[in-house]
Amino acid sequence: MAINIMQTQRSPEGIVITLARSPFRRKFKLSVGDRAHLHEYGMAQVLAHAHALVGQRLTPAEPENEGRQTPFRGDPVFVAQHGTATCCRRCLQKWHHIPAGRSLTAEEENYIVNVIECWLQAQSRPRRNAYELPAATA
Ligand SMILES: [Zn+2]
Repeated sequence: MAINIMQTQRSPEGIVITLARSPFRRKFKLSVGDRAHLHEYGMAQVLAHAHALVGQRLTPAEPENEGRQTPFRGDPVFVAQHGTATCCRRCLQKWHHIPAGRSLTAEEENYIVNVIECWLQAQSRPRRNAYELPAATA
């Protein structure tokens, strides 16, 4: 069989919406500092950095410190990785059906960065709730 039927990757938007329903994943939010960082550097530069981080920490068949290679804070990309289950190869396998134990392809790296971008975009939008909260009554 020459046809590759392992094309199980979901769309970045689809997976971000799915993950937003996970009680664990939805806890991750950009901090005020993360938002300032994103604003200061801009999305293009942050995503270029994301690409570099993915290449260093996720692409190898056996990444160093697998399972603990992504800090929980310090960079908006790290937070996005936890929010999107692109933090380690185990999570990539479980949620994104990208097999662990082999190097990531360039296509998979791009997909991961797209997922991170999608999450960052969603987090950067003004909070709808801020406008929907009822006015405080005295
Ligand atoms: Zn993980």
